[in-house]
Amino acid sequence: MAQRRIEERSAGAVLFYNDNGVRKYLLLRHRKGHWDLPKGNIEPGERPRETALRELIEETGIRNFKVYDGYEEVIEYYYKRRGGRLVHKTVVFYLVEALSSDVKISSEHVDYRWVDFDDAMKLATFKNTRNLISKAEEYLGTMPGNEHG
Ligand code: ATP
Repeated sequence: MAQRRIEERSAGAVLFYNDNGVRKYLLLRHRKGHWDLPKGNIEPGERPRETALRELIEETGIRNFKVYDGYEEVIEYYYKRRGGRLVHKTVVFYLVEALSSDVKISSEHVDYRWVDFDDAMKLATFKNTRNLISKAEEYLGTMPGNEHG
């Protein structure tokens, strides 16, 4: 009998920081090599927004932030687990402004960078990550520092 595909649900954050009027996004380098956003699996009983903020704190150490509630974007992708089972993954992202840029990564990641939009488009490994950051840029507008206005 064919095995049923596994469904995974995660939540994460497009995290940015206003670096003297230049908006910078946080990318984390995963142990497996890809550059990604902070995210993690939704635990039973948890709302996606709670997961996103919990994972944000766990994976970046940032506790001082502001959530933009008008932004909520979902991506989905497939990957194969070791052993070959196919996973269908859905990840909901929230837009969060870090009020400090002091990052402490967890053991899941090996590096991090705050990058402007153009560099984020070069560094982010997956197209859906780049789309999420593009949508954040549209949402926030093109004026640097606009989010503080
Ligand atoms: P988490 O607990 O943060 O949800 P994880 O490490 O268990 O993360 P993923 O980051 O989803 O799981 O990685 C699982 C596989 O999916 C990896 O092989 C990775 O290359 C791939 N992957 C990760 N992010 C994306 C993405 N945005 N689009 C497509 N494939 C991705």
